[in-house]
Amino acid sequence: MIFTVAIDGPAAAGKGTISRAVADRFGFPHLDTGLLYRAVAVKGGDPVEAAQHLTPEDLCRDDLRSLEAGQAASRVAAVPEVRAALVAFQRRFARSEGGAVLDGRDIGTVICPEAEVKLYVTASPEVRAHRRWLELGGDAARVLAEVRERDARDMGRADAPLRPAADAVLIDTSDLGIDEAVAAAVAIVAARLSGT
Ligand code: C5P
Repeated sequence: MIFTVAIDGPAAAGKGTISRAVADRFGFPHLDTGLLYRAVAVKGGDPVEAAQHLTPEDLCRDDLRSLEAGQAASRVAAVPEVRAALVAFQRRFARSEGGAVLDGRDIGTVICPEAEVKLYVTASPEVRAHRRWLELGGDAARVLAEVRERDARDMGRADAPLRPAADAVLIDTSDLGIDEAVAAAVAIVAARLSGT
């Protein structure tokens, strides 16, 4: 069975948690596509070459989750040649036999417009910044400024900007607990799988 669940949205909206839970629940492999861009940024050197020669080890580094890596990722992600180098791998993953969950910014719009389920997971910048701050600490005002800066860069770039696909289902997690957000996503996937 080919069945793609595309989960897009801005940083710290809850995409990762929801994606892992959906993947677990339905037994689908999961790809966090943000890690690809983070790994390219952290690898250093020419980002296009880094993207063309990304290795599985690059994705296992333990410094990929920092705020700095996120900001650097969003800068290299605006380079069209970097994005182009990562498309084929993501498409193959998305359309592999056995189903797949991918989370990112452009999964439902560019990587897999034919995805069987498209979710756009979002929350207010304040709520997202607060979650990031709880996770990583630091200066709260700076974390909010960085969330806004990254949103602006991701939504404003010319190539594959962050936006909901026309047929995406919106899940706003501003006022939802993790369990409620996961339940909403699981229900949408289950309905699509059963053809209702
Ligand atoms: O999701 P995460 O915060 O790990 O993503 C880091 C950055 O990588 C994002 O801010 C975005 O610029 C970029 N990205 C992207 N397309 C994706 C996934 C991530 O441009 N599919």
